[in-house]
Amino acid sequence: MTEPLNFKQELTGCFGQPVAENPTQVMMEAAYRHHGLDWRYLTIEVAPRDLAAAVAGARAMGFRGFNCTIPHKVAVIEHLDGLGESASLMGAVNCVVRRGDQLIGENTDGKGFVKSLQELVDPNGKRVVMFGAGGAARAIGVEVALAGATQITIVNRSKERGEELVILLNDKVPAEAEFVLWDQSYVVPEGTDIVINATSIGLFPDVNARLDLDVDSLTRDMVVADVIPNPPHTNLVRDAESRGCRVIDGLGMLVNQGTIGVEYWSGIDPDPTIMRQALEDVFG
Ligand code: NDP
Repeated sequence: MTEPLNFKQELTGCFGQPVAENPTQVMMEAAYRHHGLDWRYLTIEVAPRDLAAAVAGARAMGFRGFNCTIPHKVAVIEHLDGLGESASLMGAVNCVVRRGDQLIGENTDGKGFVKSLQELVDPNGKRVVMFGAGGAARAIGVEVALAGATQITIVNRSKERGEELVILLNDKVPAEAEFVLWDQSYVVPEGTDIVINATSIGLFPDVNARLDLDVDSLTRDMVVADVIPNPPHTNLVRDAESRGCRVIDGLGMLVNQGTIGVEYWSGIDPDPTIMRQALEDVFG
C-alpha cells in the first residue's frame, strides 16, 4: 500500500473506522492485482457528520463504489440514488455501486454468506437456527429466506432485537420466523438443517469465548456456520467438527462478500482462492 495514488486508477474504498492493516483492503487489492486491474481500494475514516461530504466526494472523484462499515450502514442510504432488493429489505447498505451516474446501495454480507453456504448445502426448503440479531444476522436472515429457507429460529440474548428481526422476516420474506430468548444453554431442535453463529462471540481477542449451546445437540446431518473471520477456527467450528458436522468458517463469508463487491464494481468474477490466501496471510 505504499505506491502513490494515480488519478488514472479506478478508485473503490471503504468508509468506516480506521484499522492499522485493513484485511478487506489487502484482500481486494490482491484480487485487483491478480486480475490485472490498475485499481485501488482505500480505507477512509469518515466521521458521521462528514458522511454526506464523503459520498459527494466519491461521486466527484468517480469512485466505482465503496463499502460502508459501522456506523454508516444505515445513514448512507439517504445519500444514495437507490437500493438493491436485499439492501432495501434490510434497511442497511454495506456496498455502494456506481451504475451509470447513480450510486446504488447493495448489501453483500448476506449474499456472501449464502454463497459460502451453497458450497455445502442448498438452503432451499431448510430449517435454520441462527444465534444473534444484529447487522450480520439481519443480512443473513433475509438472504437465506430469499434463497428458500422455510423456517428460521432466531436465538438472541436481548429480546427486543431478536423480536425486531423476527417481525422483519415474517413481514418481508417468505419464511416462517420465531424468536427464542437465549437465557440458558440452547438445545438445537432435532430436524434442524443449518446452525449459524451470527453473534460476535469468539471474535479476536475473545478467542476462548463459547456459545452457550448444548454441543451434544449438534448432529452430523447439520451444517454449522460461524461468521467470525478472525480467528476462523473458533470454538464453535471445533465443537461442530468434533460432532461430525459439516462446517463453514467466517473467512468464506468475508471472501464471498468481497468477490460479489468486485464483481459489482468491475464486472470481473474474481478468483476467491487469491482473496482467501490474502486474508489468511493477514490473520496469520
Ligand atoms: P452487532 O453488534 O450488530 O450484533 C452483535 C450480536 O451478537 C447481537 O445479536 C448480540 O446480542 C450478540 N452478542 C454479542 N455478544 C454476546 C454475548 N456475549 N452473548 C450473547 N450474545 C452476544 O454486530 P454485527 O451483527 O454487525 O456483527 C456480528 C459478528 O459478525 C461480528 O463478530 C463481525 O465480525 C461478524 N461479521 C462477519 C462478516 C464476515 O464477512 N465474515 C461480515 C459481517 C459481520 P444482543 O442483541 O443481545 O446484544
